[in-house]
Amino acid sequence: MRPGGPGMSDVRSTLTLATKVQFLPGVGPERAERYRRLGLKTAGDVLFLFPRDYDRPPPDRPIDSLREGEPASVVGTISDAELASRSPGRSIFAAIVENQTGAVRIVFFNQPFRSDQITFGQRVQICGIPRLKGLRMEFVHPQLKQLADDEQGSAAAIHPIYPLTEGLRQIDVRRLTRLVVDTLAGTLTEVIPESLRGQAAEALRSGGQEIEGALPSIDVALRSIHYPQSEPLLHAARLRLIFQELLVMQLALAIRRRRLTTELRAPPLPPSALINARILNRFPFELTGDQIRAIEQIGRDMSRQFPMNRLLQGDVGSGKTVVAVYAMMLAVAHGYQAVLMAPTEILARQHLATLTQTLAESRVRIGLLCGTLTAAQRRDVLRATAAGEIDLLVGTQSLLNRELDLCRLGLCVIDEQHKFGVRQRVSLRGGGGDPHCLVMSATPIPRSIAMTLFGDVDLTTLREQPPGRGEVKTYLAHDGWKERWWAFVRARLDEGRQAYVVAPRVAAGETTQVTAVEATQVRPGKSQELPEPVVPVKAAGQSGEAAGEPDEAVREPDENVTSVLRTFRELSQSQLSGYRVGLLHGRMRGEEKRSVMEAFQDGELQVLVSTTVIEVGIDVPNATVMTILGANRFGLAQLHQLRGRVSRGKNTGHVCVFTDGEGLPEDHQRLQVFEQTGDGFALAEADFRLRGPGELLGNRQSGLPAMRIADLVRDEAVLVVAREFAQEMVDADPLLAADELAELRRQVLRRYEKRLDLGDVA
Ligand code: ADP
Ligand code: MG
Repeated sequence: MRPGGPGMSDVRSTLTLATKVQFLPGVGPERAERYRRLGLKTAGDVLFLFPRDYDRPPPDRPIDSLREGEPASVVGTISDAELASRSPGRSIFAAIVENQTGAVRIVFFNQPFRSDQITFGQRVQICGIPRLKGLRMEFVHPQLKQLADDEQGSAAAIHPIYPLTEGLRQIDVRRLTRLVVDTLAGTLTEVIPESLRGQAAEALRSGGQEIEGALPSIDVALRSIHYPQSEPLLHAARLRLIFQELLVMQLALAIRRRRLTTELRAPPLPPSALINARILNRFPFELTGDQIRAIEQIGRDMSRQFPMNRLLQGDVGSGKTVVAVYAMMLAVAHGYQAVLMAPTEILARQHLATLTQTLAESRVRIGLLCGTLTAAQRRDVLRATAAGEIDLLVGTQSLLNRELDLCRLGLCVIDEQHKFGVRQRVSLRGGGGDPHCLVMSATPIPRSIAMTLFGDVDLTTLREQPPGRGEVKTYLAHDGWKERWWAFVRARLDEGRQAYVVAPRVAAGETTQVTAVEATQVRPGKSQELPEPVVPVKAAGQSGEAAGEPDEAVREPDENVTSVLRTFRELSQSQLSGYRVGLLHGRMRGEEKRSVMEAFQDGELQVLVSTTVIEVGIDVPNATVMTILGANRFGLAQLHQLRGRVSRGKNTGHVCVFTDGEGLPEDHQRLQVFEQTGDGFALAEADFRLRGPGELLGNRQSGLPAMRIADLVRDEAVLVVAREFAQEMVDADPLLAADELAELRRQVLRRYEKRLDLGDVA
């Protein structure tokens, strides 16, 4: 205590959540700076500094089952004790601890005071790592706890482990949290009413969580999260805090969902037996069960007078397009227009071709709007759309053009949503009243993340693959395999199949085109295809924040990255000479790209050497072999998308991945997961485990604040319960106006008001 400083008891009595860390006992300006580096400014921050882990006492072990090198604790009685020498610097104190199961030796060097502490006949608990010494196990410098005669040793405490920064020791932080927890935990206002804590615990129990009684109060939860008396109490405390964090988030999302359904108006476009029959007759195959379910859900959504807002996710090739076509036809059947937006022109044109074929000899008029149209063509499409002469408009980002005037827009479909920013949806929606909205994604996100990121969106998943799909074999190769692999590729080409070769960037010595972090997949405004209309960039009124963010990974030039141009040259001259090899990359003009794509589609080209332009949705069933070079540059989701290109037909597909150079261990791990997992959903989960949701869905993009204690993937079961509770609470009391919810409401607003427009509740 500094002279003149406040006494400890004074501090305690005047301590509040707002007290600056600097003024807490034993801190002062210098240490306060270190705490600030941990993000702690006030006593309240300290109270919510949750341990990152716990020191748990090792289990009490019978002596005859101790194993060398395995931490353990032993309870027993001192049966012998001896101080070998008192001379400073060379004293050795040794003792024997004994119980019914045997005896161990404990040793302390240069701690002569131990001889006063440890005496014959005393009961102790020791804790450490045993080594075999002669015939006996020995503990050098064990932790030692003296026990009363009847005391059980296993009650040893669980100690919190806090995050640290330089100049802060674990013991400093523990001392501080101890003080703050003891003084302030009891002063917090309870946010979750008692009845709710009981019901939540009940629901969590049925969801498989082990918890006795109700969720603990905030007071008890905070004490137990820092200084748990037992494992079950710690678990209960964690559950309560995780539940609270998720409940607050889900309440905000439920409020917003409600707002969208009560304030926006869309034309009701209900299906009927006649309409359904007419649409379904146009498909040359039976729908899968999942497709039927999706269509039923969409039919229900579109019958309502507020906008459908549905995310349709399904692995590559699961047949999302068919579902989209159904929704669009439903709009058209009611005399409304539908728009289909794709991330690349290649894909938009492919959709156009599919639609034209499916709707041949119908009265549906289809238009295309994309970057490579001539000025005259564009004018014509815009005019026809405004005049209502076009029913279905397919296109790229160009659809976001302000001049586009959809006179009777009923439905927007966005394909490959992950290629766009979340905000794009909004701006398209603004294009003409409040149309229904269907968003499709082939990069499945775990349900928990979908529930968060798209909290106001309903989710449909196509898990089933249409019948007759060939399987895909994946090989993780090393350079020694190259000759054999190319021989294999040639054999497939000779059988009449086609092949893709994918490399990470266009030319050598250039900017890396795609990074392992898949910046392009998840961040709006960054596509690898630079001059193409693909690039969302700022077009759709994205915040400068997201668009202006520098992306080192993409800027860094790297000599060693395999390039498409070099690969094309080499392959055409050596391994694949004599075969018809084509080249495709985003640097090419739209016209060129299209003719190459068509040549490949028609089989004129046997091999397509390409960047990831082909990643998105290209459908050439005869292409069954894919070589991915520099695969370490790609993320899992992207690799899986690429692989999807060779599972289109009935033939078995083969994918072989090669890496550039040595590669990092993480890269190798990722590629192994890719080799072993064919299911896109399992891969997406693995991706989240390997990289964490934070990296994939930067908080900035998701618009949601970071979680303090909850983990959206790990705590999915709790999230499900929180979401149900939130929905019910908002249904029953849309403004959370009940007195007992006042605190909860305040928290929802504090955390989410700025991020989500919460309307009336605020
Ligand atoms: P994705 O979900 O990747 O967009 P698509 O909609 O492009 O998949 O469908 C992939 C292929 O499967 C297309 O050639 C499509 O015609 C075909 N397909 C879709 N649904 C079925 C089905 N129920 N039965 C048979 N083939 C189908
Ligand atoms: Mg598709």
